Amino acid sequence: MLKSLRGKLVFIMLMLIVMLMSVIVVFLTRGVRDFYLDEFHRRMTSAFTDAEMISALRAAADEPDAAEQLEEIIFAYAGQLGIDSWTRKFYILDGTTGERLAGAEIGRGEVFEMTPNILTALTGENAYTGGSGSAYMDAAAPIEGEYGRFIIYIRDSRETSQNLSASLFRMILESLAFGLVASAAISLLLAQTLLSPIRGMTKAAEAMGEGDFTRKIPVDSDDEIGTLSTTFNTMASQLETTLDELKNAEKLRRDFVANVSHELRTPLTSIRSYAETMHDTPDLPDETRLEFLGVILNESDRMTKIVSDLLSLSRLDSGGGLKIEQFSLERSVREVYTAIAIAAERRGQSVELDLQFGMPDIMGDRARIEQVLMNIMTNAVKYTPEGGAVRVSCGASGRFAWVKISDTGVGIPPEDLPRVFDRFYRVDKARSRESGGTGLGLSIAKEITELHGGEITLKSVYGSGSTFTITLPVDGPPEIATANEAASSDNQQDSEAGDAMPAEEEHEPLN
Ligand code: ADP
Repeated sequence: MLKSLRGKLVFIMLMLIVMLMSVIVVFLTRGVRDFYLDEFHRRMTSAFTDAEMISALRAAADEPDAAEQLEEIIFAYAGQLGIDSWTRKFYILDGTTGERLAGAEIGRGEVFEMTPNILTALTGENAYTGGSGSAYMDAAAPIEGEYGRFIIYIRDSRETSQNLSASLFRMILESLAFGLVASAAISLLLAQTLLSPIRGMTKAAEAMGEGDFTRKIPVDSDDEIGTLSTTFNTMASQLETTLDELKNAEKLRRDFVANVSHELRTPLTSIRSYAETMHDTPDLPDETRLEFLGVILNESDRMTKIVSDLLSLSRLDSGGGLKIEQFSLERSVREVYTAIAIAAERRGQSVELDLQFGMPDIMGDRARIEQVLMNIMTNAVKYTPEGGAVRVSCGASGRFAWVKISDTGVGIPPEDLPRVFDRFYRVDKARSRESGGTGLGLSIAKEITELHGGEITLKSVYGSGSTFTITLPVDGPPEIATANEAASSDNQQDSEAGDAMPAEEEHEPLN
């Protein structure tokens, strides 16, 4: 029974009631006993200091039949002394021997014991002390007369107080029985109220164990149980989200591994088949042999590029290890632009560079940022046909610097826009492969930019061209920026002197 919460609750309640009742019994019986004892002592003290009664007793003691006279007087004062001849009796004793002379009869076979109070009275003093630990209460008062010394001895068997205690005890036992039944019922009810949300929680937890996170516990109160239920529900939702994220991450990882294997297998297959042909055909014309070797070299380069891109990504994934320094973004843009301009012009494309005057230096990893610029500018040239145009512009606004690369190329279909930053995603696989693309360029660019606390946005019209805008915080990644807060407030005025962000229409692709 004590294994269940309900059993424990009922047991605790019952124990509480029993303990409470026991305490009440002890206090009440002691209270009744003390009350009667006090009352006895008070009565005796007041009677034996009552001048009228004392003088009447003294006068009686002077008579020859003193014992009977004294008996009569005590009878007369019986009310005041509380004498009832049942539980409280009186005796007239000899003042020198303590022997009974008159008053209540002594039962047959009963020994009249010499109590401490009688012994004190024999020495000539009033005595009403004691009684709390003994089975009786008594008082003894000596009276001196002409015919001898007498003791008025009053003895109470304490039956009245014992009877009252006994009936109180009975009443308490009855209420204890009632209290036990009532508290068992109440604690069962209480246990029910407490246990039903706990049962709900157990069921939900079991469902969670089986992978069902949708089951929620109803929250019907705002007490501790309500808070626990709310917390449980929140935890379930968070677990559900985390599990979804884990599943997604796992799917991404599987896709990635499949993609990597596929990407590497394609060049490997072609290297192998060309090499095999050369091996099996010793009399291959020199021209063809050279052509085959060219393909093998090309494919090896592709594999090297894929592996080095993957290495870059893996380094970025594990925190990036950026080498943050202050550098001129304007100079980097110009250098990368110069490098790709040659290739663009070779393709008969018109190129244009538009640099904002007075651009601030920025905090960042220069080599990585240049890699971002190179990836996006190369793409602009790569995906723009001959005769097209590529335009690069850059500037700063507030605490941000931006670089915009627009082309009048093939553009990207709307349905592919959300996926072009995914690893290995390519709109046109053949064209990408033809131009030596790995499908990793944009994802690397995005990762680097985000590690710097910036972002890349893309607008594209399929068939007309695309515009990539890279925005970077002038103060570098957030953790660097916080460390350099003081320094950055000085730079504030410089950068605010710069032009505003490019106007919205400028994001539209060039036509
Ligand atoms: P890739 O090595 O194939 O160029 P990227 O990650 O750099 O890989 O780009 C992913 C895909 O996005 C490309 O395959 C191409 O389809 C598309 N893309 C990127 N830049 C442009 C652009 N300027 N114009 C049209 N399509 C582009």
